[in-house]
Amino acid sequence: MSEINKPNYNIANKPDGIEGEGYFLTTLDQAVGLARKNSLWPLPFATSCCGIEFMALMAAHYDLARFGSERLSFSPRQADLLMVMGTIAKKMGPILRQVYEQMAEPKWVLCMGACASSGGIFDSYSVLQGIDRIIPVDVYVPGCPPRPEQVIEGVLHIQKLASSESLRKRDSKEYKAMLNEYGIK
Ligand code: SF4
Repeated sequence: MSEINKPNYNIANKPDGIEGEGYFLTTLDQAVGLARKNSLWPLPFATSCCGIEFMALMAAHYDLARFGSERLSFSPRQADLLMVMGTIAKKMGPILRQVYEQMAEPKWVLCMGACASSGGIFDSYSVLQGIDRIIPVDVYVPGCPPRPEQVIEGVLHIQKLASSESLRKRDSKEYKAMLNEYGIK
């Protein structure tokens, strides 16, 4: 089992008086986290060559379905993982932001490749120099293009965030302040 996909629970002794087969004790946070982690629904926002690597990621050889994420969503309202891959022109920025805003909480963002992360080789007036200028990003996957194995590692990091997140995080002052910094209500 990989380091980043280790379960975050401990085996505890049974309390006195409560015994029997199948006894299992956990917290609501951890049960919900387990469900969220293994049922991430990605929305692929792919504009160029990194999108081709994403196609390989979804196909039989790499098979993202092994991690519970084979159900792609092309509606933001039925997605909780925004995967941004490719060159994002400044004109596309408001669209990307609208897609992010239309996704329900909780949601995570994976930024794939040099272009989406920093503009890549396109240091030009028309290209957004990193999507984190307009929306918050949870995990960056470096490369031009990143290999599908790297993207799988990125998804595993997102899974770790999803499984360990407190149920109160999205209502916290810190989270709201972070969204305010982006001007997102
Ligand atoms: S990072 Fe490289 S492979 Fe990915 S979209 Fe940019 S130029 Fe294409």
